[in-house]
Amino acid sequence: MSYQDLSGEVITPKDTNYENARAIYNAMIDKKPAVIVKCKNEQDVVNAVNYARDHNIEVSIKSGGHNGAGLALVDDGLVIDLSEMKAININPQSKTAVIQSGNTLADVDAATHEYGLALPSGIIGTTGIGGITLGGGIGYLSRKGGLSIDNLLECEVVLATGEVVTANKNSHPDLFWALRGGGGNFGVVVSFTFNLIAIKNVYAGPMFWPLEKAKKAMKFYDNVTKTASNDLYGFFAFLIVPPAEPFPEDLWNKNVCGVVWNYTGPIEKAEEVFKPIREFGPPILDFVGEIPMPALNGMFDALYPPGMQWYWRAHYIKELTDESIDENIEFGSKIPTMHSTTHFYPIDGAVHEVSNNETAWANRDARWAQVIVGVDPDSAKADKVTNWCKDYFDALTPYAMGGAYVNFMMEEGQARIKSSYKDNYDRLVEIKTKYDPDNFFHINQNIKPN
Ligand SMILES: Cc1cc2nc3c(=O)[nH]c(=O)nc-3n(C[C@H](O)[C@H](O)[C@H](O)COP(=O)(O)OP(=O)(O)OC[C@H]3O[C@@H](n4cnc5c(N)ncnc54)[C@H](O)[C@@H]3O)c2cc1C
Repeated sequence: MSYQDLSGEVITPKDTNYENARAIYNAMIDKKPAVIVKCKNEQDVVNAVNYARDHNIEVSIKSGGHNGAGLALVDDGLVIDLSEMKAININPQSKTAVIQSGNTLADVDAATHEYGLALPSGIIGTTGIGGITLGGGIGYLSRKGGLSIDNLLECEVVLATGEVVTANKNSHPDLFWALRGGGGNFGVVVSFTFNLIAIKNVYAGPMFWPLEKAKKAMKFYDNVTKTASNDLYGFFAFLIVPPAEPFPEDLWNKNVCGVVWNYTGPIEKAEEVFKPIREFGPPILDFVGEIPMPALNGMFDALYPPGMQWYWRAHYIKELTDESIDENIEFGSKIPTMHSTTHFYPIDGAVHEVSNNETAWANRDARWAQVIVGVDPDSAKADKVTNWCKDYFDALTPYAMGGAYVNFMMEEGQARIKSSYKDNYDRLVEIKTKYDPDNFFHINQNIKPN
């Protein structure tokens, strides 16, 4: 095999499109691969895997290039770039979709919405379906439909040997278990088959309160969502109001707290559900109303384009105690830049209907995955956003459950990966040892084989 056997483009540092090809979402990452293989099909992936293995070249796997830690790229190695593998086949009768790994969430959303269907997944359209799914997949439909992996029926996988296997409940069930949360450790997934859920329009959008009301607002939010049906979802946030339309000018650049709601129950009941919510406060901004699902999923895409500086930290949270709320308010009032924020993504509701050891994703006793993100377009602010994020993370650690959602982690070391998988870690090591004993796939939140 040589690069000539590939039908996709092979890009090296000598090529004029190299800089574009190595650009990923997080501009804080500056890795320089030796070669980027733009795979066109499964055979290209097989050839790239075989070539890299036989020549002892390190590989990374890139779907959407969104990973905060930059795990899509590898210095001096070979990038298996799946971004041109974009087929999506929807079967409206069975409500299923076969989705190739190069699709973004915006691609998936547009395709499924045509049929009045949706896949529970993340909240920003440019995220790749590959990385988000293999790490778990948290988003606006988590309480209603579970994680992305809870809707996963099958994966087509290229293993480290170059062999192609189908992983589902009957074929390679151990691998299928591991792929549902274990990330890119086990092979290159070229396509995913998902169950979809019937969703067309939702009653959704942001609602803000002034920072002075944050403590009461957080407690109110906690109580409302604790007892609500799975039709009501809302993620809590501390943020700075963007100085732009459609936000009212008197709120521009103000530190506020808020919730981005998503109600998926009968639309004629929505006003009734939101009546007590609107009576609290009252909110200083209320953009909640009926919108198509893709409008919600794309709502923050323009605010967070690719190419900014990002630094992430994350926790799993079970309870919002008075002390933890006070710490959040302290750091929420010191947000360093307009794009920096913290979000509390609910992972209760349908996520709790699956047990911790049914899939590799081991944190179903948490109520929220909290992410703290320091973000700014200016590289001169990289230290500022990073320091705020790290300090905030440290202050919250005593109130967190340990570990973090692997898709919200930077490169934070083995102990942290292990604590994220809790009791599932040993089984993941066994499966890794069976399918990838040489740790060929190690540019990821790595599970080391025995
Ligand atoms: C702005 C932003 C918003 C986000 N929002 C959410 C959210 O709402 N919910 C959520 O759950 N997460 C969210 N994330 C986190 C996201 O899930 C991770 O960044 C994820 O890694 C992105 O997937 P990707 O395909 O774009 O990643 P890439 O950077 O392309 O890949 C990251 C890693 O995933 C693995 N991988 C990717 N594709 C494959 C494949 N086909 N086969 C095998 N391994 C593969 C590899 O290990 C690779 O190193 C967000 C990230 C950002 C930057």
